[in-house]
Amino acid sequence: MGEGLLQGLREDARSLGFSQIGVAGVDLATAEPGLLGWLERGFHGGMDYMARHGLKRARPAELVPGTVSVITARMDYLPRGTEAGWQRIEFGRLARPGDASVSLYARGRDYHKVLRARLQTLADRLAARIGPHGHRVFTDSAPVLEVELAARSGLGWRGKHTLALSREAGSMFFLGEIYVDVALPATPPVTAHCGSCRACIDVCPTRAIVGERLLDARRCISYLTIEHDGPIPEPLRAPLGNRIYGCDDCQLVCPWNKYARRAVLPDFDIREAFDAPTLLALWAWDEAAFLRATEGSAIRRIGHARWRRNLAVALGNAWRESGDAAYAQALQAARDAAAPLLREHIDWALAQRQP
Ligand code: SF4
Ligand code: SF4
Repeated sequence: MGEGLLQGLREDARSLGFSQIGVAGVDLATAEPGLLGWLERGFHGGMDYMARHGLKRARPAELVPGTVSVITARMDYLPRGTEAGWQRIEFGRLARPGDASVSLYARGRDYHKVLRARLQTLADRLAARIGPHGHRVFTDSAPVLEVELAARSGLGWRGKHTLALSREAGSMFFLGEIYVDVALPATPPVTAHCGSCRACIDVCPTRAIVGERLLDARRCISYLTIEHDGPIPEPLRAPLGNRIYGCDDCQLVCPWNKYARRAVLPDFDIREAFDAPTLLALWAWDEAAFLRATEGSAIRRIGHARWRRNLAVALGNAWRESGDAAYAQALQAARDAAAPLLREHIDWALAQRQP
C-alpha cells in the first residue's frame, strides 16, 4: 500500500472538511521520558486520567491492540466569518473588562461531535478502498498523544506553547486520529520554525509556559476554566481577566497565525449567544438558560456551576478595573443563593474594590 492509497485518502479527507492528513508509526518511545517527567512534576494538575493511562498514551498498540499505523488529521476551525485582523479584535475584547472572552474554538458546535463523525466516515472510506480493517477514532482524547503524533506525521511542529503549529495554517485547528491495524506509509515530519521567538511564553497571563514546549497545566487558564474542578487558586484569579472559557493568548500572539485558515464547515460558525457577549448578560443566565444556549456546544461540558465560578472571577476583575457598581450589584444579588464554592468566589470578587 503506497502513495496512491494515501493520495486517495487525502481526497476523501478534504471532501470531509479536513485540511490535511498524515500517517505516523506507533513507536513513540522517545516521547516517553518527556511524558513521565511532565507527570512526575505534577504539571497535569487534577487531570488524573492523564496519569491513569500512563505510558499507554505513548504506546498506541497497547491502547488499541493490533494498531500498526495512526492516521492523523487536522481541521481548521476559525469561524467562517472571521474578519481580517481577528487577533487585534480578540486582544481588544480582552482589554474591555465587561466583555466576556470565550476561546475561538468553542463559539460554535462541539468539535468532538464534528470530528468524531467525520473521522469515522474517513475510516469507512478507507475500508471501501482496502477492505474491512480494525480501527478506532479519537479526537482530543486523554489517552492519545495528539501533538506528538501530529508532529511525527508532518502536520506541524510542536510550538513553544506546546500546540501543533503549521507554516501553512498556524495553530487554529483541531486534531483527530484513526488508529488502524493496517500498515500505511508514514508521512515525514516537518522542521520546527519557532526560531528565537518566545512571544507565547512572554504573553501568557499566568506564566503557565514554564519552558520551551513545557506547560504547567495547573497555571493555564484553559485548564483552570475548563478542566479544573474546585476553587481557582487565588493568585491566578486576577490574571484570568475576562477569560471565562479557555484562553487563546499564546495563539493570538503567534506570528504563524497570520496564516490561520477559516473553517470550511459551517459547524464552527459563531452562535449568537457567543458573539461578543458581556459578562453581565451571561451572569443573568440561570441553569436552564445555560443549558439551552450551550446545547451541542463544548461549553456545556463544564456545567453551570463551573461556568458561574469562572464568571464570578471575571466579574470581580471587571469590578476592580472599572469601578462600575453594576458588577458589584450583580454579584451581591446572587450571593445568598449561591452554593459554597460559588459564594467564596463571589466574596473574593466583591472584595476586589471598596464600594
Ligand atoms: S492558553 Fe493562556 S494561560 Fe494557557 S499557556 Fe496559553 S496563554 Fe498561557
Ligand atoms: S509565539 Fe513564537 S515561540 Fe510561540 S509557538 Fe509561535 S512562533 Fe513559536
